[in-house]
Order: sequence, then C-alpha cells, then structure tokens
Amino acid sequence: MTEPPAQPHPRPPALKPLKEDWTRGLAVVAHPDDMEFGAASAVARWTGQGKQIVYCMVTSGEAGIDGMDPDAARRTREAEQVESARVVGVDVVEFLGLPDGILEYGVPLRRAIAEVVRRHRPEIVITNNFRETWGATGFNQADHIATGRATLDAARDAGNRWVFREQIESGLEPWGGVSQVWASGSPNARHGVDTTDTFDAGVRSLRAHQAYIDGLGWENFDAAEFLEGVGRGTGTAMGVTFATAFEVLSLGWGEDD
Ligand SMILES: [Zn+2]
Repeated sequence: MTEPPAQPHPRPPALKPLKEDWTRGLAVVAHPDDMEFGAASAVARWTGQGKQIVYCMVTSGEAGIDGMDPDAARRTREAEQVESARVVGVDVVEFLGLPDGILEYGVPLRRAIAEVVRRHRPEIVITNNFRETWGATGFNQADHIATGRATLDAARDAGNRWVFREQIESGLEPWGGVSQVWASGSPNARHGVDTTDTFDAGVRSLRAHQAYIDGLGWENFDAAEFLEGVGRGTGTAMGVTFATAFEVLSLGWGEDD
C-alpha cells in the first residue's frame, strides 16, 4: 500500500481583511494621482457600499510635469484629480495648496491636516506609503513620507482640544473618532481588501490623470496593465482575483486589528 501524497498544510491567508464597519473615511495624500496608483479601486468598493469618502490633496502636484509650468500644471492636475475622484464615487476633493516637492514633516503640516480631520470627522483615515522604500530599494518620495507621518499624527492631534486650540476657539470641535490610519503601498502591509469587482473603476480613475501620465514620458504605459501587475499578487495573498494592500496603524490603546 502506498502512502497518499502528503497534503500541504492549508496556509493562513497572507493578508487579513480590513474592517468595513465604518461610514466616513478621509484620504490625505501628497499629490493628485497618489490614490490612483493602487488605492482607488478600494475606494470604489467602499463608496459602492454607501460609505462617504473625502479626498484631501496636500499639494496640487504642480511640480509634477517637467514640460509644464507649475501654474498651468496646478489647474490641469486639480481638474484631473476631481474627475478621477468622481469615477470612484468621491464628490469632495480638497486641495490644501502646500508646495509640491518640498513638503516638510512638522507642526505646520500636522496643523493643516488636523483641521481637515476635525471638519470631516472620519472614522478611518487613508494615506500613502510613508516608509522609506516601497519594499525593495526604490526610495520613497519626500512628500509622501512627510504627508503620511503628519497624517498619522494629525489623526490623533484632532482629538486633543488643547492641540491647535485656535481651531477649537474658531468653532471646530475636537474629533477623536479616528480608529485607524491605513497606508496603501506600504512594504509593511498586513491587510488587504478585495477589489475584484471595482478593479475597472480603479483603472478609469488612474486614466483620468492623462496629462500627468503623458508628462511622465513612460513609453507604452498602460493603466490596466500596471494596476493588474500590483493587484493580482495582492489578490493571490487574499484568495481573490484582485486586491489592494494596506498597512494598518491603530490609534486606540491596546487595540488590535
Ligand atoms: Zn505622489
């Protein structure tokens, strides 16, 4: 009698599902297009569930197109971002107007983002990867690192009435309701969300940044192909076709995910 072939141990899914028991989200990123290089299909899923998500762009990406003067690029990129957001069910896009390319992590940036958090009162805040790299040797961009770090801090600052108290004195309420900050594209991602059904919306959302993509001069860049490349591997880690991965940071004490 021969032994049956050994069955591989069932492996636990490599990525845990993100919680979806929330109703208001706020995405804070450095540039127009930061949401669209991965997270937008997840946003489309959540807005499809009836959640409200607001986008806040810290800069207008005005330094992002080599062949275009920043004043023209600002208008073009803001318009592209508004359309890109609309495609995934986001109707409110705010631009803080801070200088593209030279953002600094610090109190002024925390203050600006805390004000946005206090006005919109989100339960979940989404941002971009703020780690040093994207996982291999690709060095992350300075604005992403500054924005992500400041967003994490501002999500907590917003709940403390004695921090940035001039905002409270001018009529805003403290907001301590952010339970988690999620960073897309992080090399430390341990969570994910199934984006199979909203993958196409994510592609359309990236394609809305046409002037920017043209300006990059990447030959034959195809938004669908690019997002498939990222989304398939993440999907495999969740046992679905396409998924988006996020690093989860909890703001509560002793809170797990
Ligand atoms: Zn960016």
